[in-house]
Amino acid sequence: MNATIGIPPAVTEETEPFWNAARDGRLLIERCRDCGAESFPPRGICRSCRARTMEWTEITGAGGEVYSLTVNHQRWLPDLEVPYAIVLVEFPGHPGVRVAGRLRGCSPEDATIGMRVEVGFEPGPGGFAIPSFVAGTA
Ligand SMILES: [Zn+2]
Repeated sequence: MNATIGIPPAVTEETEPFWNAARDGRLLIERCRDCGAESFPPRGICRSCRARTMEWTEITGAGGEVYSLTVNHQRWLPDLEVPYAIVLVEFPGHPGVRVAGRLRGCSPEDATIGMRVEVGFEPGPGGFAIPSFVAGTA
């Protein structure tokens, strides 16, 4: 087990565009051309209508809100500071999309459900950029 700060970088045909965009600091999700449903993580098939006509769309703008969180006390990597919060984040206007990642810029005990966060990326194993979140200032 590695890559526990965020999503394990399992690169497949379905997820390669996501990891490429992540290197540029962009968060891509899938959207169904047939029914418009959005989903994450990418899997190449629509959760709503089972169509395989998924296209990529980018989440931009005002960041997201913490939907749930857990605090990790396990030191998976030697230079990892513990504890830290792992948050599951929802984005306004993107129902069905929840992205997990480490929360930065805020101590775990200050993390709350509903707090505003910005998307950020951190260098991860194998040169991948791993999604993480930065506590909002608002
Ligand atoms: Zn669909």
